[in-house]
Amino acid sequence: MDDISFDNDLRKAVEFHGHLCPGLAIGYRVARYVKGHYLRSEDEELVCIAENNSCSVDAVQEMLGCTFGKGNLVYRDYGKQVFTFFCRNDSRALRIYFKGDVSRNMDDIRARYFKGELSPEEQVEFRALRERAIKHMLEAPDGELLSANEVDIPAPQKARIYPTLHCQECNEGFMEICGRTANGKTVCKECFSRMTG
Ligand SMILES: [Zn+2]
Ligand SMILES: [Zn+2]
Repeated sequence: MDDISFDNDLRKAVEFHGHLCPGLAIGYRVARYVKGHYLRSEDEELVCIAENNSCSVDAVQEMLGCTFGKGNLVYRDYGKQVFTFFCRNDSRALRIYFKGDVSRNMDDIRARYFKGELSPEEQVEFRALRERAIKHMLEAPDGELLSANEVDIPAPQKARIYPTLHCQECNEGFMEICGRTANGKTVCKECFSRMTG
């Protein structure tokens, strides 16, 4: 990918994610746009509600500090390249839909690639197509790729700390709210599913 220019953010996102792919390019553009509107989240002031759990989310985590571990990354299983950012400092929210996913046109050839069905010539073609899609999504203007709107949403719940209980089956500690009861014992979810499954 010689003709793709990497800025510091893209370099770090690739390092974090492990490779450069169309999905990472999507997340990079979303995160770069948000950086122009909100600051990076040092603590929990910026919350991201991500409507997918694909490659794009990694760029958002790396560039904006919205991470699963801090509790300011909320996952909704909608399968959409939509990210809503809620800023706790001023209660504003920005919803971004990535409308410029040109890698969508490659679904067929990609499926065949992963099944190992492409001839050597087709593999070259696939890589070139993919690289062109990535380059486009890294370089096209915001207006062509993103649809961003301020929205009115309630503040997402803050990450909560719960007391620890110990499972009466495996003896491991777990968050109280995740407890279950089975055979008259208080147990963790893991043991519960094994005992009742
Ligand atoms: Zn990826
Ligand atoms: Zn257990």
